[in-house]
Amino acid sequence: MNETTPVPLFSASQVNAGQDFKGAVCRVLDSHWYIMGEEVKRFEAEFAAYLNVEHCVSVANGSDALELSLRAIGVKSGDKVVTVSNAGFYGSTAIRAVGAEPVYIDICEKSLTMDPEALRAAMVENPKAIIVTHLYGQLADIDAIVSIAKSAGVAVIEDCAQSHGAQRNGKKCGTYGDIACFSFYPTKNLGALGDGGAIVTDNIELASRVSKLKQYGWEGKYNVAVPGGRNSRLDEIQAAILRMKLPELDGQNEQRRRIAQRYNTAFKAFDLQVPSSVDDDFVAHLYVVRTSDREGFRKHLAESGVHSDIHYPIPDHLQSAYPVTQVYDMSVTVQACSTVVSLPCYPGLKDDQVERVISAVSTYFQRGK
Ligand SMILES: *Cc1c(COP(=O)(O)O)cnc(C)c1O
Repeated sequence: MNETTPVPLFSASQVNAGQDFKGAVCRVLDSHWYIMGEEVKRFEAEFAAYLNVEHCVSVANGSDALELSLRAIGVKSGDKVVTVSNAGFYGSTAIRAVGAEPVYIDICEKSLTMDPEALRAAMVENPKAIIVTHLYGQLADIDAIVSIAKSAGVAVIEDCAQSHGAQRNGKKCGTYGDIACFSFYPTKNLGALGDGGAIVTDNIELASRVSKLKQYGWEGKYNVAVPGGRNSRLDEIQAAILRMKLPELDGQNEQRRRIAQRYNTAFKAFDLQVPSSVDDDFVAHLYVVRTSDREGFRKHLAESGVHSDIHYPIPDHLQSAYPVTQVYDMSVTVQACSTVVSLPCYPGLKDDQVERVISAVSTYFQRGK
């Protein structure tokens, strides 16, 4: 029997330990300005500067960011949008919301992100846009994807909800495609204390359109100039908290990456597929391994006091609410969804907790030896 408290898959109190948010919250309370004020304006400027992108428009959450990006690009009912299928139906929700049709393609065996060759084949569908997900914090093969899209004149939306700060050759995720979406849900690498999201782009027309769409489609007060608008605003308190946390992001990503590196080293000898990169292009939003006997593995972890989860068990193209006629091969996706397991990996995770995870995994693979 393990008498100690289990290692949680995520702990908000460990991630946010040592950060006193009261100053930030009180600043907003004292200002009595709750929506679209100085904090939001400053956060947008600071986040744009961090990414090195021209425009940042904050919104209420990451899902709205995806949907408003599709609307800003002009994706309409009946249009096709190419995307992957191995996350939580996020991109698919947005595609369905605008009445468009998802075209699902497979992922790379190594990175579990969009396979550029599959994309090349799917361009015959004449899509209006492509949604690329930088899954688990891993930057996709984005240069190849953008080059295929560009030569066909198709817009690329980056879903960066799990990859704040991931970069390749100094260029950050969210600056490769035409427009990019972020979520600040509390478990994300940059997490608020509630919901939040942002859209970033270098394209002033797209930025201007999403700024209108997030407020009823207004161009100036009460003048509805763009159809498809709604209310999607980040509030001042969340913006003030995000401004406090943004300077910590790189350090926190480094902590996540270090834990991932320790795991990768410790698990080397085992029959376990580990994240393919632990470099700057990976910010370890989730540490996901793949194993054939997932149930047995998770049962052993649970008995050893280590929490785990599955991100994600059902691919979008097999979700019952939206039956699709699948055209393209999805074998890597289907295989991944039946073998992935997420292990605890977040800033503030203590050395002894990391050791307990390593020990639980090790005893599983060394059983009967
Ligand atoms: C969390 C997440 C979203 C949705 O963000 P919300 O803020 O929860 O709406 C979209 N895409 C990915 C990849 C995510 O992980």
